[in-house]
Amino acid sequence: MVTTHHLGLPRIGTKRELKFALEAYWRGELDQRELEQTAFKIRRDNLLLQSRLDMLTVGDFSLYDQVLDSSFLFGNIPPRFRQEAGITTLDDYFQVARGASNQDTPPVAAAEMTKWFDTNYHYIVPEFQHTTEFRLAIDTLLTRITETGTDPRRIKPVIIGPVTYLWLGKSKDGSDKLDLLQRLLPIYADLLTQLAAAGVEWVQIDEPILVTELSATWQHALRNSYYQLQNSPVKLLLTTYFGQLRENLQLACELPVAGLHIDASRQQEEVSRIIDWLPMHKILSLGIIDGRNIWKSDLNAILAWLEPIHSRLRQRLWIAPSCSLLHVPLDLEREQKLDPEIKSWCSFGKQKLIELELIATALNRGRDSVSAELENNANALLTRKRSQRVIVPSVHQRMAEITPSMAQRRSPYEVRSQVQAQRLNLPPLPTTTIGSFPQTGSIRQCRRDYRNGKLTWNSYKKAMKQEIAYCIRQQEEIGLDVLVHGEAERNDMVEYFGEQLDGFAITEHAWVQSYGSRCVKPPIIYGDIERHHCMTGEWTDYAQSLTTKPLKGMLTGPVTMLNWSFVRDDQPRATTCLQLALALRDEVLDLEQAGIAIIQIDEAALREGLPLRRSEWQGYLKWATHAFGVCANGVQDSTQIHTHMCYSEFNDIIGAIAAMDADVITIETSRSDMELLEVFEAFDYPNAIGPGVYDIHTPNIPSLDEMMTLMRQAMQRIPADRLWINPDCGLKTRRWQEVVPALEAMQRAAGLLRESSA
Ligand code: GLN
Ligand code: ZN
Repeated sequence: MVTTHHLGLPRIGTKRELKFALEAYWRGELDQRELEQTAFKIRRDNLLLQSRLDMLTVGDFSLYDQVLDSSFLFGNIPPRFRQEAGITTLDDYFQVARGASNQDTPPVAAAEMTKWFDTNYHYIVPEFQHTTEFRLAIDTLLTRITETGTDPRRIKPVIIGPVTYLWLGKSKDGSDKLDLLQRLLPIYADLLTQLAAAGVEWVQIDEPILVTELSATWQHALRNSYYQLQNSPVKLLLTTYFGQLRENLQLACELPVAGLHIDASRQQEEVSRIIDWLPMHKILSLGIIDGRNIWKSDLNAILAWLEPIHSRLRQRLWIAPSCSLLHVPLDLEREQKLDPEIKSWCSFGKQKLIELELIATALNRGRDSVSAELENNANALLTRKRSQRVIVPSVHQRMAEITPSMAQRRSPYEVRSQVQAQRLNLPPLPTTTIGSFPQTGSIRQCRRDYRNGKLTWNSYKKAMKQEIAYCIRQQEEIGLDVLVHGEAERNDMVEYFGEQLDGFAITEHAWVQSYGSRCVKPPIIYGDIERHHCMTGEWTDYAQSLTTKPLKGMLTGPVTMLNWSFVRDDQPRATTCLQLALALRDEVLDLEQAGIAIIQIDEAALREGLPLRRSEWQGYLKWATHAFGVCANGVQDSTQIHTHMCYSEFNDIIGAIAAMDADVITIETSRSDMELLEVFEAFDYPNAIGPGVYDIHTPNIPSLDEMMTLMRQAMQRIPADRLWINPDCGLKTRRWQEVVPALEAMQRAAGLLRESSA
């Protein structure tokens, strides 16, 4: 018999109940008991969902983030949040995640947040110092086991492994975090002992760093840890996901644990080597269902591959999704409006567990026992493969006709910047914004009314144009040099375009947790991408008609469209990206044709598409920047291309950024005191840069002085004639009361700097 299990489930609830409960709790509208009740209900629903599996997973639920939970489990709370009495409350927990501010005391900064491997989930970064001590706080985990009311031998708690935990954190005093391992391991030993005492037999211990390039020191830390933990009274399932083990394969197989889980959706070819290396007494858990995407699995193909493995391993084989299902939406059945054919190709969290069960049944009792289900699955896959909505010959024709020169500007930057300067006639240190202006309650209401049929298209359009007119008036009053239309009509920078392009499907409820209570709803790219009409022209042209200043057209770039969608798995990502680039290229050319002189192409997510292994970075950057080039660089010399990226790490990718050859790049810098411009300076970045001087992630209004200081720092690194002044990012989450004074101060700063350098 094969054993089924999973690595973790979505935890925001079917209707995002957790999100709404958390936000109400933070606003003081819900008490702790009510919040706990919502959380308990979600765990109970998840228990029901997994009841079809052999092992039940506990410890995957979190009120905010599982890494933050681990920090609390090990008593590793940043000193600035530590209470005298040493007792931690729910509010302490949220304070570490969100920062603390009250009227009497100065605000305490939240712990940092960063991306969880190559996903769009963000975790709270553990903080370490050479003095960090750990103390086990196991009560919550034990309660989660007992509350299931199930035989604890069937329960598999999940914890982060000690080495990955240290790897994920940050040393705050420059000390070596690995020095803490000797202090951390006894805590793990204690934890495992207590879990055994609670009746638990198996513990899932996650060490996903095994799919990354590890130095000898980190490899040694893994060896050291698991040798020290090998006498624990529970069986450890060492768990890896998100990629292949490669050079860590032997290490992963040899660590003294009772079982190994690997992501077999991405590394089928490694599995036979693993089986050869894995000692005979160990369990092998194969992650056969892709936990990162929303497509139906090819059950027959999986079975054909898995059956011989099963006959070889028998009881030693476990099967599961490749990783936690946190990264996919919960339930496809909720999508009532999704095109039925496309829906028949998809599988969300719940459906993936059903697929898993089917495979187990087929292995245990033969394929005949589930022949109808297997046939349905095969039919769905076949219609997807043959569908004319997936393969569009005209798109392939265009793809074949792409020439290298399509990704290149006509003239080098020095030449075209002169042409643009003449056309645009901008002052030195021009001011602009990143695109969006406040998304007010009335804008959102209009969108809802339109969606619910309460507002006709014409009245909706009229309302949006009023918003645009208001936004232009405000910018003119402030005196900004390059205006934007404000993006009132965009619900989301990816979904807005996805709704209008062929090859995209938009869901209603397919939310995925991004961090804390924040969720995203990525569109699904199911087929070849085609654009049939101009997507932004009407708003952009209208905005330009209201002002004599240059209006910057605003698009989401191909790489960001790709990285923030669920993508098709039947062709390389690079191909899909290039199709997006072609569609957006047409949009760029339409805007140019309409007389728009500046076009910004946002690539907010370019960096996050970087593969986990550095050895694969160049490959990704090459096709990603080529796609950007195809999208952006078909324009005349006189059209100015901007791009925007909202992060601050450019060290390793500056060459690729320069190769994109945007005339202006606006970036997030205000929090880093312009330090990140060092990279641009050292690289001798040739084009213009707009370093953000206004941190839009807080409601604070930056002062004139702060912004002047930041710009002076920037001017020390980058020649003033290649600098712009702008906020860090879009202003959609801010309120007009904050935005207007902040931009007024920014404009004044520009004026003063111009005077002083004239
Ligand atoms: N143009 C977008 C905006 O201003 C950019 C958002 C982003 O970078 N995430 O909202
Ligand atoms: Zn941004």
